Amino acid sequence: HLELQKVAKSYGAVEVIPGVDFEINSGEFLVLVGPSGSGKSTLLKMIAGLEETTSGKILVDGQDITHLDPSARDLAMVFQSYALYPHMTVRDNMSFALRMRGEDPAVIDQRVREAVAMLDLGGLEDRKPGQLSGGQRQRVAMGRCVVRNPKLFLFDEPLSNLDAKLRAQTRIEIRRLHERLKATSIFVTHDQVEAMTMADRIALLKDGKLQQIGSPQDLYLRPRNTFVATFIGTPE
Ligand code: ATP
Ligand code: MG
Repeated sequence: HLELQKVAKSYGAVEVIPGVDFEINSGEFLVLVGPSGSGKSTLLKMIAGLEETTSGKILVDGQDITHLDPSARDLAMVFQSYALYPHMTVRDNMSFALRMRGEDPAVIDQRVREAVAMLDLGGLEDRKPGQLSGGQRQRVAMGRCVVRNPKLFLFDEPLSNLDAKLRAQTRIEIRRLHERLKATSIFVTHDQVEAMTMADRIALLKDGKLQQIGSPQDLYLRPRNTFVATFIGTPE
């Protein structure tokens, strides 16, 4: 269970997020949408601990993690630009975080094997990123997160570099992964179709303010204002 209480962010004198409140239940897949510059990445980074909050609280299962070190948070963030280590094999890329943590090699081996099977990367373990397709690289990037077995996944437009067919396929893979890991996920996208098809609930942000949060049907059938209606594409 993740709860944001009046989470706010200013860069210098510029207030980009005046204060956002919402809750996500365990197991939920929340899609965060909004125009460019509305504060989606900033919000994710605050949850991940990659940006300090200016004020407000972030709670996970009731525990205040607002000022916890990123590495001490039980979450994984998947970015659009999946910077894999080019000189390392798929296996080494995937196991990197666990090796840094000093995890038992047998455990690492087991986790990597599970992730490889889950992400359909069998046979590619000894290749380097340069020898993979874009979609395969994207799956290796996800594999790096999966092996850590985090409770919370944060996706920041992970599909925007992929072509339409691969995007559609990867959407399904991400949802399946979410179910199998019994994870809680926040998925940022510009894409209304992605939001409507993937989300348990959608949160729509504009100028750092939450416009509405609810099921895709809710936002479509009962938009709270014209901005929501236009963004979701409710017919007039
Ligand atoms: P996009 O869809 O384009 O990725 P976004 O919703 O993720 O946009 P953010 O990256 O969160 O938007 O940015 C929100 C606002 O904060 C923008 O106006 C941006 O210019 C501003 N901003 C982001 N990072 C900084 C920074 N380090 N310093 C100053 N302003 C910043
Ligand atoms: Mg962004």
